[in-house]
This record gives sequence, C-alpha cells and structure tokens, in this order.
Amino acid sequence: MADKAAPETDPAVKPEKRYPHPASPARSANMKGNKRANTKPELALRSALHALGYRYRKDFRIDLPLRRVRPDIAFTRRKIAVFVDGCFWHACPEHGSQPKNNEWYWSPKLAKNVERDRAADAALTQAGWTVIRLWEHVPVPDAVAAVVAALAPSAGTSMDDHAGIPAIDPPGAR
Ligand SMILES: [Zn+2]
Repeated sequence: MADKAAPETDPAVKPEKRYPHPASPARSANMKGNKRANTKPELALRSALHALGYRYRKDFRIDLPLRRVRPDIAFTRRKIAVFVDGCFWHACPEHGSQPKNNEWYWSPKLAKNVERDRAADAALTQAGWTVIRLWEHVPVPDAVAAVVAALAPSAGTSMDDHAGIPAIDPPGAR
C-alpha cells in the first residue's frame, strides 16, 4: 500500500477558492460600488435622460434674489429645475415616517427641509423656472416621462399628425 500522495492541504487551492465565487475581490468591490451608485435615484434619472440625448447641468447653482438653489438636474435654457427628493429627508407622504428616536431633533429638522423645499419652489417659479419634484420612490421610467413631458410643451402633437407641415412653434418659442 503506497502512502497517500496527496498532501493534506493543497497549496494551490486556497480555501476561498473552494466555493463558487462570482468574482475576484477587486471585481466584488467594483460591483458594490456600482450597486450603491445605481441605487441613487437621481443618478439613474440622469443616466436615463443622458441616454435619451438630453443634456443638462447637474447640481447647478441658481442664484435667485432671495436664495440659492441647486437642483439635481437643471435645463438652463428651458429653465426647468428637477429635484429628486429622498423619501425620508423630504418627508414623502408614503415613506417619510417620522423617526421615533430623537424626535425632538429630527422633526424640526425634517420640517425645515420641507419648508426649504417649498421656499425654493416659490423662488424658482417666481424667477420663471418650471419646478419638477420627483420622489426617490418614483420608478425611473416614470421620472423620465415627467421630465420629458416638461421639456416638450407641444407634447401630444406627434409628427405623424403633421406630415409635410412644419411643426407649430411651442408657446414661448422665439
Ligand atoms: Zn417615498
């Protein structure tokens, strides 16, 4: 009987290789990063709009007479400001439940956020901007549709309805 040739532990097989791993450590870290980034609703909306050919400014600072605002997405020529509001921080009626702990601190803070949102809306509207606020829970296709609709005042008049006839300029076009 020959001695068992195989060593007890094969140095070529590291313990972590014994199980199916989807990726190398570097790839895993990369995937984690991507997952975090892709779950950011405003990033998803930006990507989708960019893929559709829309160009915009992100985190564009607008200096209004009374305040500065920084929409997540701004179409500066069309003066359309898009905000993607976090359900918690901006008190979404569906998911923005009041935190139970430290309510003495959080409630005023959240209330102040909402107050600031409304003041920003008013200041922007007064300055001729169209404000679009989307909750982070809104599915990306719906968010895209809302923005696209705002960018297309002549929406509803499809090109097919006007074959051979130049499209009528949308109101406000110069
Ligand atoms: Zn929500």
